[in-house]
Amino acid sequence: MKHLALIAHDNLKSSMIEWVRTHKEKLSQYHLYATGTTGKRIEEELQIQVTKFKSGPLGGDQQIGAGIAEGKIDGVIFFWDPLAPHPHDVDVKALLRIAVVYDVPLACNKATADLLIHQF
Ligand code: PGA
Repeated sequence: MKHLALIAHDNLKSSMIEWVRTHKEKLSQYHLYATGTTGKRIEEELQIQVTKFKSGPLGGDQQIGAGIAEGKIDGVIFFWDPLAPHPHDVDVKALLRIAVVYDVPLACNKATADLLIHQF
């Protein structure tokens, strides 16, 4: 079973919920991880089980990065918000970097996530 991490910044959480709803059947084949608030919303609104890390600003992005480095996370869907400043911007950058270092599939918008989910 593959392990997929889901993260969405606040302005994009509704888009993430809709994306997960659209791909619910396919996603049932994966072990899902998420940062705290993203995971909580997916569980509550879609009744899908997710392993939740800490909230992004409290270290959740770093935990997902560590999961990639340890070979425990195989792919990331990250709806990051390019129009809002974030206190944990350095963590976001570090996560994007480590996903590239380990050549892990990384989708940063819905169009790429749609492509990724069909090939993953
Ligand atoms: P959250 O974290 O899912 O806990 O809101 C996402 C983030 O801000 O990186």
